[in-house]
Amino acid sequence: MSALTELYEEIANCERCVLSQSRTNTVPGEGLEDAELVFIGEGPGFHEDQQGRPFVGQAGQLLDQLLESIGLRREQVYICNVIKCRPPRNRDPLPEEIEACRPFLDRQIELIKPQMIVTLGRFSMERYFPGAKISHIHGQPRRMGGIIYYPMYHPAAALHQRRWLQLIEEDMSKIPQLLAQADGIAEMELPQDAEQLSLF
Ligand code: SF4
Repeated sequence: MSALTELYEEIANCERCVLSQSRTNTVPGEGLEDAELVFIGEGPGFHEDQQGRPFVGQAGQLLDQLLESIGLRREQVYICNVIKCRPPRNRDPLPEEIEACRPFLDRQIELIKPQMIVTLGRFSMERYFPGAKISHIHGQPRRMGGIIYYPMYHPAAALHQRRWLQLIEEDMSKIPQLLAQADGIAEMELPQDAEQLSLF
């Protein structure tokens, strides 16, 4: 059993926050265990909760298409969420729920050791860029601690407002080149507050 699979078992038994009371299944994440590219979304929705798999609904189908547009299949990357259990009625995750789930996401990243982390949506972005505005920083890579962090809009945004689709497609199209030129991206210090982020 891999360390990641052991972590999934730990997640399956987790009762650290109230979402454990309403979930059908935990949704730890899936994909290549040593993926160079990790996508982090917000949290499971209805279909994800039913199947125990991330991004299997409409937004997931769009993510699959976006991956295909850069020559990748989901088996070649790793996909997970900030929180591993579905919030009731798909409400936004609460700060204390994100905080409770934080060690699982941190451990996943430690184990996978990706070259690049793509955050999908503001809750995932907020995890690494607290206080930033996604409209200001999407599509702009930052290299910190040897990992490239790359904020993008959540694919669900494109389902509700088609004008976001073009932005998401554009940001996705830059990923192969960013990976190829990873060593050329200057290392930055992790931002401490929103004021620093406005400098980006
Ligand atoms: S969301 Fe995370 S912290 Fe909360 S119960 Fe599920 S696995 Fe545990």
